[in-house]
Amino acid sequence: MFELAKQRLEPVFKYINVDEEVIDRLSVAKRSIIASIPVRMDNGELKIFTGYRVQYDDTRGPTKGGIRYHPRVNLDEVTSLSFWMTVKCAVAGLPFGGAKGGVMVNPKDLSKLELERLSRGYIRAFADVIGESRDIPAPDVYTNSTIMGWMADEYSVISRRQVPSMITGKPVHLGGSEGRESATGQGALFSLNEYARRKGYKASDITVAVQGFGNVGYHFARLAKKSGYRVVAVSDSRGAIYSSSGLNVEDVYQFKQQENELASVYCDGTVCNMLDYESLTNEELLLLDVDVLVLGALENQITQLNADEIKAKTILEIANGPVTPQADEILEANGVDVIPDVLANSGGVVVSYFEWVQNRSGLYWEEKEVHTKLKKIMSKESNIVYDLALSHNCSLRTAAYIHGIERLAGAIDERGNRK
Ligand code: GLU
Repeated sequence: MFELAKQRLEPVFKYINVDEEVIDRLSVAKRSIIASIPVRMDNGELKIFTGYRVQYDDTRGPTKGGIRYHPRVNLDEVTSLSFWMTVKCAVAGLPFGGAKGGVMVNPKDLSKLELERLSRGYIRAFADVIGESRDIPAPDVYTNSTIMGWMADEYSVISRRQVPSMITGKPVHLGGSEGRESATGQGALFSLNEYARRKGYKASDITVAVQGFGNVGYHFARLAKKSGYRVVAVSDSRGAIYSSSGLNVEDVYQFKQQENELASVYCDGTVCNMLDYESLTNEELLLLDVDVLVLGALENQITQLNADEIKAKTILEIANGPVTPQADEILEANGVDVIPDVLANSGGVVVSYFEWVQNRSGLYWEEKEVHTKLKKIMSKESNIVYDLALSHNCSLRTAAYIHGIERLAGAIDERGNRK
């Protein structure tokens, strides 16, 4: 996966003149750590989990990136995600490098107390290498504000002082930022709004299908509907629902919450039990004839196997890495625009940055202020990327990479020569 992720760098160097050494630097992670995390389970047994933290590049500032809990987490995936975080923070112009962490675990198999012990164990394992000016974790797939709260607490116990800025995505009562929960979906919508405005499209004429109805997919769908887009389909890991006249996103969310409460720990609630709408498979949702296909689930959803069948005119990547490089080539040849992850989903880390700034200054902002500042950054950086794509006649992804790599290369150069 990391080999594929790095392929995104190649086209960039056709357009910009960057020193060979910069390419070498950006082709490897600065530091990768694997740690075992022993957790006492509720039945008294000791279970050893494997945790990862990859700090990819810290030229532009302390490294930044989420922690993922998923059964398929491995070093290759975490490295790819940390590479994308490096590019993403540069595209957004944040004073951060990129990192990512993860634990190989199915969090749905754990009780709440086991999950808390695992999360505290993660911080104990990595406490020496993280910190407010070093490496700042955040939520990612299957981690949330509650988990960030436990992690911040564990860090304060270890360091014997309160350091809220060592982690972002915390609950608001523990120094989290207003607007962080919906920031990724909101940021993606700002980016899409700019794209639609430049194309002269009206929101009410645009149909949208959303793959993934977790935190990011739900907030995106909710806010997109509120802005007038017609959200015709959403899916989760078990299936999809569709209505040509548009879904009531809030009803779907309420339904999924109820289903989650009824479901056992081994099985999630799902939107596809909602009988009000037509049901589809996940694969059918990807192939719907809609204007915008939003990818908000996991990596590698559009590959060379299904790229040619995509009917959507635009893809918005709110997950990390949902389209493979091979699929990119097919989509580009078919005239499908892909608004890339390193731009489209950067709203999450932008508001994480705002949270870090608020923690460090001790001055807290209202949601409206967070929203205004997020809109300003997303609109500005999106327009720079859209302009670059026009002037270089390249894909939006290559344009976003050009933008990020120029900033990174500039910083690498300006740091001087320590070797
Ligand atoms: N996990 C999110 C991402 O992939 C947010 C990272 C952060 O806030 O540091 O962008």
